[in-house]
Formats: sequence, structure tokens, C-alpha cells
Amino acid sequence: MTSLAERYDEVLGRISHSAAVANRNADEIKLIVVTKNHSAALVTELLDLGARDFGENRDQEAKPKAADVAAHEMQLGLQRTYDWHFVGQLQSNKVKSAISYADTVHSLDRDSLLEALMKATAERANPLDVFIELNLTDDAGRGGIEPKHLEAFAEKVIQQPKLRLLGVMGVAGLEREPAAEFAVIRGASETLQKVAPSAKFISAGMSEDFEAAILAGATHLRIGTAITGKRQY
Ligand SMILES: *Cc1c(COP(=O)(O)O)cnc(C)c1O
Repeated sequence: MTSLAERYDEVLGRISHSAAVANRNADEIKLIVVTKNHSAALVTELLDLGARDFGENRDQEAKPKAADVAAHEMQLGLQRTYDWHFVGQLQSNKVKSAISYADTVHSLDRDSLLEALMKATAERANPLDVFIELNLTDDAGRGGIEPKHLEAFAEKVIQQPKLRLLGVMGVAGLEREPAAEFAVIRGASETLQKVAPSAKFISAGMSEDFEAAILAGATHLRIGTAITGKRQY
């Protein structure tokens, strides 16, 4: 049995190594620890280890967890800054709640969600960071924007003053080899930058495939089990 600290360090080491192999600066790669199905106490432990970005995929679970972590920080008089990332499918009726704690939504994948985000961000001071999620499967009914519709969808997103488009997000390996899908994500990112030059970030790479994602240019890794251990259900 390894400890959380050992697993976290091991993943950090693998990220640095892959960045070196890819001739990239490890500082440009953000590690988001996906803490879904884990407690607020685990998030606090990760904060102690130096982690500052956390990913969740269900609002019902994430909202109270975020509140617990914040309360704990307050109690200890700590002022550590950290960010929550919403990485899962987001229902429109959960948008308002999700963006009350999440700083970044990685799963903008349809017009109706864009509309809900526009409404919910209207009164905000600072724009909300978003990634457009790609559909990498051949099934158009699956969540995500098909790469061929990316530019048209991105045009709508960048017109929103309260949304800041960071780039594309993808979950690889559902149908093909992750490396092949990372190449598709990379190509989509290049296409996107033609209409949105600053949207150069790529949210890709999970426990099983983050090294390949780094080679393909991923800037935001979403890593769960390799760090947290098996999720409890
Ligand atoms: C759960 C999840 C992850 C992390 O998956 P692991 O295989 O545990 O690293 C990454 N991205 C999304 C969208 C997820 O839902």
C-alpha cells in the first residue's frame, strides 16, 4: 500500500519526466487532482501536499465538499488559494450552483449549456473560464462538440464577455487508442486557435494516459485514481 503523498509525488515525477521527453516546460502543465468520490478531508491532505487544483464531476457531491474544504481552511486560519474545476457533464439546471464554487468548467458541450452559462454569468465581475468538450467518438449522439462543428460553436462562445474560452477538452480512449485521440484533440486545438488565438490550452490526460497526453501538448491534466487511489462508491 502506498500513501497519498507517495502517489502524488510519483505522478509529479512522471509529469516532469514526460515534459522533459516532450521538450516542454513542466510549469506550463497544470495538474488537476480529480477528487470525486473522495472526502473533503482528502482534499485538505492534498492541499497540505501542495496540490492547488481539484476536479469534480457531480454538483451534488462537489458543492458540499467545496464548502467543507473552505470551512476547514477558515478554521485553521489558512489562506491558501486553490481552484475547483468542473470536469463532468453539467446539467443546465446545475450551472448556477456549479459556478458558485468552480472557477473553470471543462465540459461546455452544447448550445443549451452555453445559454445557461450566459445567463448565470451575466452579473459576474470576472469571466468564467471554460473549455469546449470535444466528442471524439463516431456517435454524434454522444456528449461533446464534433470536431467539424468546433469553429462554429467557438464563434458563439467567444462573443460572450463573461466567458473566457481557454481551449478544448477531451476524454480519450473510449473508442480508439488514446494517442490517436490526443492527435485529434491537438488538431482541434490548432483549428480553434484560428478563431480564438488565446484559446490555446488543452484539457486532456487521465490516470491511464496522461503521459501520452503530455506528448500531444496537454496543458491541463485531470488525474484521479493514480493519486487518490481507488474511488469508494
Ligand atoms: C473521473 C474523471 C477523470 C479522472 O479519471 P482517472 O482515471 O481516475 O484519472 C478525468 N476526467 C473526467 C471527466 C472524469 O470524470
